[in-house]
Formats: sequence, structure tokens, C-alpha cells
Amino acid sequence: MSPSDPPSVRLRPEIVALPAYRQGQPAAASAFKLSSNENPFDPLPGVIAAVHAETAFNRYPDASALALRERLAERFDRSVDEVHVGAGSVALLAQFILAAAGPGDEVLYSWRSFEAYPGLVTVAGATSVQVPNRPDHGHDLPEMATRITAQTRAVIICSPNNPTGTIVTADEFESFMAVVPSDLLVILDEAYCEFVTDPEAVNGLPLLSRFPNLVVLRTFSKAYGLAGLRVGYALGPVAVLDAARSTAIPLSVTGVAVAAAIASLDASDQLMRRVRALTERRDRVWRLLGEQGWSIPAPQGNFIWLPTAQDTTDIADVLSAVGLIVRPFPEGIRISIGEEESVEKLLGICADIVDDLP
Ligand code: PMP
Repeated sequence: MSPSDPPSVRLRPEIVALPAYRQGQPAAASAFKLSSNENPFDPLPGVIAAVHAETAFNRYPDASALALRERLAERFDRSVDEVHVGAGSVALLAQFILAAAGPGDEVLYSWRSFEAYPGLVTVAGATSVQVPNRPDHGHDLPEMATRITAQTRAVIICSPNNPTGTIVTADEFESFMAVVPSDLLVILDEAYCEFVTDPEAVNGLPLLSRFPNLVVLRTFSKAYGLAGLRVGYALGPVAVLDAARSTAIPLSVTGVAVAAAIASLDASDQLMRRVRALTERRDRVWRLLGEQGWSIPAPQGNFIWLPTAQDTTDIADVLSAVGLIVRPFPEGIRISIGEEESVEKLLGICADIVDDLP
């Protein structure tokens, strides 16, 4: 029997057909890894010290990550039960989808968006309903509203959207919520919210008290630079969060991750200065690429989107050949804003490529 033979045990066919999560390519030591929207800054010494101080590895972690929930509750002026912590916001997404949708149910989201959504919906046994992004690469919320059916159990809105970098405006979000049934779960994925500079962008936090069907997801992976430790959080109504907690794989948030997240909150000012440096770098790249002739939607995450539409893998190969590892999609290429040297390299090679575009 060869390892690629079909499985002889009975498995769910839709799971057998499901590709595993596709990670950004690893980069050679000399290359810049700009394919996973990671934070290029090294962890702060205080965060490393907090991780080293956490040594009781023989003990299980606190299952509810109470210490971190207390800190987040205080910060966002919510009760502790209105905060839920997971092993990355992708784990939280899985939990909310499982809590709301099963076989025969639909989960609605804009596409292209975060790659994990379709797989998580399939794992739940539910059906994805994907509404194409607008020509300007943003979510088409009025069209999404028309696609809500009696089977819709969750809507995911991603702002800023991965991979296009576009935001949903506060006005667009309000108009959408006004037509969404109040018993339909709306998940606002704000993984990149700390990088937003557009004052029109939706901010889920102040809306939580108005919409009992709204859950906001955030993460320590991006702005806080803890992608490797896996910690994210959800804010929303207690009953919805309780249902998510019931679907969670127990004990998957480690004590080390909680300690690092708390130390990062302690160092928020310093970390937000790094975020500002990255957003300034991002805006400069966007402006200069625009001057080169690229048409790029205004980026609001820690990445930019080159909507090349065709030849995306060829262009990604050209970038890879000069040591820039990026993420090609069928509709375009996503490039994380990384180290300053990577930006200079990117601007140089993009100036060459743009002349060859159709
Ligand atoms: N949401 C979006 C839109 C993302 O891009 C990502 C990571 N790429 C996540 C959620 C998940 O991040 P994490 O699990 O590291 O918190």
C-alpha cells in the first residue's frame, strides 16, 4: 500500500477532500518572509522575560485564561465573561462557526478573504456562501445582505480584509446590521485592527453594546507580534461566548501564551509605536507603488495587495528570486510589510515588473 492510496477507513469525504491549511512558504535565511503577515520586530525583552518566568510546565494551564481575560476586560470595559480567549483567533473562528452552524446551515462571507474560512465551515459540516468582493476589492455588504436565507447561521466580516487590505466603513457596517436578523450571529474579524488609520473604518468595540448578535475577534499575532505563541480573543455577549467555550478543545491556550500576552499589554505603548512605524512604512510603499503605476487598494492591515489578476505565481517567483517570499492568490499577490530592507528591495523589483504587466 502506498502512502497516497485512498484511506481504507471510513472518513468524511468532504474532510478527505479538504486541503490542509496552506502556510506561507518558509524563507531561506537570506530571504525576507513576507507571506504570513507576521510582525517583523523581535519580541520585546520584557515579553521574553515573562515567558521565561513561566516554568510550571508540569501543570495544566488555567482552562479559561482568567488572568488574561481580566486584563482584557479591564482594558475594554467589559465584564470578564464577555471576554473569551483562544489559541489564536483562528481557533476562536472555528469555535464560533461550530457553535452556530452545522449540516444544512450556511455561513456567509465575502470572497476573497481569509483562507481559513472555507475549511472551518466545511469542518463544521456547514455550507459556505461566498459573495465576491466588489471591483474595488472591498466587501459588498448590500449584496451579502441579499444572500441571507433561512439557513444562514453566521456571517463573517473581515475588516481590514485579508488579503485585499480593504476596510468596511462604519456606515456600511451599520447599514448591514440594520437589515441582518437580530438572531443571526455576525463575526467581525478584526485581526488587523491596530493597523487601521482610516477614520471611516468600523470599530467593533463600541458596537457590542448595541448589537446582541455581534462578536468581535482580535489577536495577539499581528500588532503584538506573538504569532508563534497562539493567542487571540473574542468580545461579545456572554451566551454566545459560552457556546463557543463549549466547542473549544480544552486547555489549548498555554500559560506561556497568557504570560506573553499580559506582558505585551503591559508594553502596549512601545508595541503601538512599532505598529505606527509599520503603518507609515506601509503607506509609503503604497504611495510609491502607486507612482510606479500599480493600482493598489488603500492598505489598512500590515500588508499590501497587488491585484495582478494573472501571472500571480510567475510574479511571486520573480520576487522570490530576489529574496522576497510573498503569497500569491489567483486574483493577486499579498505582501506583508516587513523589514525596511525588504521594502527597498520590493520597490526596486516592482518598478521593473510593472512595465511588463499587460
Ligand atoms: N483572521 C484573519 C483575517 C487573519 O488574517 C488571521 C491570520 N492570518 C487570523 C484571523 C488568525 O490569526 P491567529 O490565529 O494567529 O490569531
